[in-house]
Amino acid sequence: MNKSLFVLLAILIVSIHIAAQKTPAYEIYALKYATLANPTPVSAWVLNGPDKDSVEIIFMYWLIKDNLGRNILVDAGCSNDLQAAKDFGVYKFTRPDSILLQTGLKAADITDIIVTHPHWDHIDGISLFPNAHIWIQKQDYNYFVGEAWQKDGNHGGFVKRDILQLVDLNVSGKVTLVDGDDKEIIPGIKVYTGSRHTYNSQYVLVQSGNDKVIIASDNIWVYYSLEKMLPAPSYGTFDAKGYVAAMQRMKTLASKIDFIIPGHDAQLFAKFPKISADVIRIK
Ligand SMILES: [Zn+2]
Repeated sequence: MNKSLFVLLAILIVSIHIAAQKTPAYEIYALKYATLANPTPVSAWVLNGPDKDSVEIIFMYWLIKDNLGRNILVDAGCSNDLQAAKDFGVYKFTRPDSILLQTGLKAADITDIIVTHPHWDHIDGISLFPNAHIWIQKQDYNYFVGEAWQKDGNHGGFVKRDILQLVDLNVSGKVTLVDGDDKEIIPGIKVYTGSRHTYNSQYVLVQSGNDKVIIASDNIWVYYSLEKMLPAPSYGTFDAKGYVAAMQRMKTLASKIDFIIPGHDAQLFAKFPKISADVIRIK
């Protein structure tokens, strides 16, 4: 072999190796930790959605697992002593850290939590995962801990103890404030904004082999929104047009429409293989 060919081959092998390191082989799971007792009308979740049709609402969070020991959650559910959850009619509740055992992981194995937005059913559970580093949008954080509580602020779905625990983690150096849209925060994992479910909620794109999966969380509450391109009602977004535009964008980002995962629709569990009672694998 001549020398320049050898150098070329060596470069090729090294760059393939680097590329492989850059995009870990992620596995993606949805974990259901509670439901609502009764189906609710679609109109409760979708602007101009039908009153006569109902949708079954579940509460979940998501796990992104690589093969090197990094275990990332998208949202964290909530703890079982939360008054807001009882008031909301949350039913068949299992604490998120016990659901996690069904995947073979323990709470202490979780290295990161990407918080899509700070509503109680998504952020309250962060304290259940003692070693996790938290990723949240900077504007969402600032609004959550500040302006939301001023005279014209909107703090629906926010709970005082969640603010205190998030500030506590931040002063302990365990929070990264992500500054805006289209950011690769972890190799192969990008976050996007624009839906404004909260002040600046984010959704997550996971590159898993050749698949591109969008974990929309509450940037799409239920499938009906995505099917009809309709926003959430006014209490579900600060920007109805932005909410629809974000769904259009998700369609261009995901490798197929089934890889766009809404935040609360029970139909999700019929679309993917079950690995246990409360866990499906998205693949
Ligand atoms: Zn929400």
